Amino acid sequence: MPNPKRRHSKTRGRKRRTHDALKATTPGLCPQCSEPKAAHRVCRYCGFYRARQVRAVNED
Ligand SMILES: [Zn+2]
Repeated sequence: MPNPKRRHSKTRGRKRRTHDALKATTPGLCPQCSEPKAAHRVCRYCGFYRARQVRAVNED
């Protein structure tokens, strides 16, 4: 069985994980209704995607 020759230090493992954290995505604005909308997603407010209605929205 292959095994590591030396134990890695806690610092070494932590240094490797410094880039693992996820960052919050920055939303863009919907060109149809100007509400914040995630990129490559259908707008949750007006149901538009690529200047086209693709999902029904119930207006309340
Ligand atoms: Zn919209």
